[in-house]
Amino acid sequence: MSDLYELLGVARDASEDDLKRAYRRQARAHHPDAGGDEESFKAITHAYQVLSDPQRRARYDRFGDDGTPSSRGAGDPFGFGGAGFGGIDDVIDAFFGSAFGGRAGPSSRPRTRPGRDVLVGVELTLEEVVTGVHREVEVEVALACDTCGGSGSASGAGPARCATCAGAGQVQRVVRTAFGQMASASACPDCEGTGRQVADPCTGCSGEGRRVRRRPLGVDIPPGVDHGDRLRVNGAGEAGRQGAPPGDLFVEIRLTPHAVFERDGRDLIAEITLPVTQAALGGTLHVPTVDGEEVEVEVPAGSQSGDVIRVRRQGMPAHGGGRRGDLRLGVRVEVPTDLDAEQRALIEQLAELRGESLATTGSSFFTRLRGAFQR
Ligand SMILES: [Zn+2]
Ligand SMILES: [Zn+2]
Repeated sequence: MSDLYELLGVARDASEDDLKRAYRRQARAHHPDAGGDEESFKAITHAYQVLSDPQRRARYDRFGDDGTPSSRGAGDPFGFGGAGFGGIDDVIDAFFGSAFGGRAGPSSRPRTRPGRDVLVGVELTLEEVVTGVHREVEVEVALACDTCGGSGSASGAGPARCATCAGAGQVQRVVRTAFGQMASASACPDCEGTGRQVADPCTGCSGEGRRVRRRPLGVDIPPGVDHGDRLRVNGAGEAGRQGAPPGDLFVEIRLTPHAVFERDGRDLIAEITLPVTQAALGGTLHVPTVDGEEVEVEVPAGSQSGDVIRVRRQGMPAHGGGRRGDLRLGVRVEVPTDLDAEQRALIEQLAELRGESLATTGSSFFTRLRGAFQR
């Protein structure tokens, strides 16, 4: 018989919460619906049943296990023998009463649920990201009803106890699980789990307290945002049902690609093309920046294709403003393809002066190549 603590993968001094977490994880991994095998699922369930009961746990710690799950068969109080398994969530929720699943459990009080969050996309240019920008967006969203002021009640009396669930916020249903039939609670469909319902529904919103409308909204977008960032506008999402608090609005940033600059974090990248003469001689270039201005950039003599010239503080600001990144200019040296007779003569002369006539460079190239092969 394997050690029950080992089965669950917890230490001997595991707390109740540790056990729950471990069981939940293992149950998901071993449940037959998830492709696990029934025997291990029963074993870990048994381990949890023993260890989660303080008395059985104490007894187990002193005397060892009081029974193996597979040997129990028809006598199994949890009805393993031949009984079909419920869905994973049914099993786990029934077992724990979903006390830590985030959903309302049988013992928890009905709560008002806030309205849903809403997502809206905003297209920005790189220039707008540099300065930050104010944008008007329009969202189609359920907002508090004008007629009843959001309460959902025609008389303004507000919601009272829901008749369907008697205010519990939940309705019970019976679920067939690995442990046999168990009652599982789910949110009441009439009051959406709040336990409260209006007796005299407002005609404008059918008692919902909210109606879908288009809402224009001004959003201040700080400088330095990036593609995919989401800004939260608290309380600007969907109105809650019958006066419950609203959800939030999320503004998702989408960046329009720029014709010249590419963004790399806080840096900007652009390519500059230099004629071969300028690359050889060096000089001063006037480069447009993302703010629509111009900076002077020193090009060193002897610049090569692939060199990067860094222009400090001409990149993007940090999120919310602040120190800007750099502009990195990638050099591409362009060899002329349209030489006229005079230019050609000049270059031939240059080649002569540098001892780079085709014949000699050619032979030195082949010499080096042969050397590489002999190595
Ligand atoms: Zn209304
Ligand atoms: Zn109800």
